[in-house]
Amino acid sequence: MPGKTVVILGAGVGGLVVANRLRRLLNKEHRVVLVDRSPIFTFAPSFPWVMLGQRKVAGVSRDLRGLERKGIEFKAAEITGLDFDNKRVQAQDGEELSYDYLVVSLGVDYSSEEVPGLNHAWTFYHADGSEGLREELPKLSGGRVAVCVTSLPYRCPPAPYEGAMLLEHYFRKRKIRGDVELHFYTPEQIPLKATGKEIGERVLGLLGERDIGFTGGVSLKSVNHEKGRLNFADGSDAGFDMLIATPVHRLPNVLKGSALVNGGDWVPVDRETLTTAAPDVYAIGDATIITLANGTQLPKAGVFAHGEAEVVARNIAAEIAGSDPIWAFGGQGSCFMETGGGRGSYITGHFFAEPDPDVTMRSPSRFWHWAKVGFERNWLWRWF
Ligand SMILES: Cc1cc2nc3c(=O)[nH]c(=O)nc-3n(C[C@H](O)[C@H](O)[C@H](O)COP(=O)(O)OP(=O)(O)OC[C@H]3O[C@@H](n4cnc5c(N)ncnc54)[C@H](O)[C@@H]3O)c2cc1C
Repeated sequence: MPGKTVVILGAGVGGLVVANRLRRLLNKEHRVVLVDRSPIFTFAPSFPWVMLGQRKVAGVSRDLRGLERKGIEFKAAEITGLDFDNKRVQAQDGEELSYDYLVVSLGVDYSSEEVPGLNHAWTFYHADGSEGLREELPKLSGGRVAVCVTSLPYRCPPAPYEGAMLLEHYFRKRKIRGDVELHFYTPEQIPLKATGKEIGERVLGLLGERDIGFTGGVSLKSVNHEKGRLNFADGSDAGFDMLIATPVHRLPNVLKGSALVNGGDWVPVDRETLTTAAPDVYAIGDATIITLANGTQLPKAGVFAHGEAEVVARNIAAEIAGSDPIWAFGGQGSCFMETGGGRGSYITGHFFAEPDPDVTMRSPSRFWHWAKVGFERNWLWRWF
C-alpha cells in the first residue's frame, strides 16, 4: 500500500491532538504534516493566570518544531488557499501541499472592526493581551472595571466569568476592593446559556456573592474611551474606567467563501464524524458549527476540539488500514472555572443529550483549582 499523507491545518488544541494520535496509529510510510502560521503553541486556559502574574507566557508555551522528533512534520506557514478538487493547500511562501486526507482545525480569527473603539479595550483572550493586563492592573487604584462579552459566539464561555472572579480576588488581596466596582456585561440573558438555566443561575449566584454586577442581554455596539462609555445595541449605555472585553470571533479568513462553509458563518460538520462538504476533508474545533437539539450551538471550547480530534484521527487511521471508520463524537465535555482564592469549579456534561444538554456544576473548592493546575501541566507535557 503506498504511503498516505494527512495534512492538518492549525497546530492549536485540535490539530495537536490529531497529529499526535495519528502519528501513534499510523506506520512510518504514512506522513503526518502539521501546519501553523506560528511555530509556538500557547495554552489559552492559562491566560487568566498570566493576566494576574501567576504564569509567564513562556512557561505555558511550547515550540512546535520539537514535534519533528516524534515523526510529525511541522511547517510554519500561513495557509492562503484551499483546492479541494485537486486535494492541495497553498501556503503564503508559494509552496503547495498535497494531501490524501485534510483536517481543518484553524480556530477563530479575532476582530475588533465591527465595534468602534473595541481595539483599545484590554483583553486576556490572547497572550499579548494577558501580558498587557499584567502590567496595567497594578497601576489601577480604583474605579469601575467592566468585563464584557462583546458578541456571540465566543470561545470557552466560562472564561470571562473566571476572569471576573479572579480579578475580584486580586482586588481584595490588594485591599482596593472597596474602591473598585466590578460589572459583567454579556449578550446572553443568563450566563452560559448552552448549559441550561440552573447552571446560569448558579453562576449568577457566584457573581452575586462577590458583589460583581451582571447585565445580560446586551451586545456591545461601540466604546467611547474619552468619555468612558459603553454603548449597547439596545440603546442602553454604561460607564467604565477600565474595559476588559472579548474580541469579536470570526471564521478564519482562509475559510471564507470556501466550499466548506456554504454561505454560513462557520463550517458545518457531521456532529459524529466531523466530515465536511468536501471529500476526505474533516473540520474540528472552534471553526465548526454543531447545532444542538434545543437549537443552541455546541460551545467553542478546547475540550470539544480535543474530543473531535480523537475521533477524526482514529477514523482516518482506520480508513488507511482498510477498516471501517467506527468512531463517533458524543458531545461530552468538561471545563474548569476558577472562582478566586485558590478555588475553582468544574462544569461537565453531555451536550448531545435531548431535549437539552445534561450538564452539572461542582461547587467551588480547592480540589478543582488544583485539578486545573494538573490539567495544564499534563497538557503541556503530553502533546509535546
Ligand atoms: C482565555 C481563554 C481560556 C480558555 N480556557 C479553556 C478551558 O479552560 N477549557 C477549554 O476547553 N477551552 C478553553 N479555551 C478555548 C480553547 O482554547 C479553544 O476552544 C481551542 O483552542 C480551540 O481549538 P482549535 O484547534 O479549534 O483552535 P486553536 O487552538 O485556536 O488553533 C487554531 C490554530 O490555527 C492557526 N491558524 C489559523 N489560521 C491560519 C492560517 N491561515 N494559516 C496557518 N495557521 C493558521 C492558529 O495560529 C492556531 O494556532 C480558552 C480560550 C481562551 C481564549
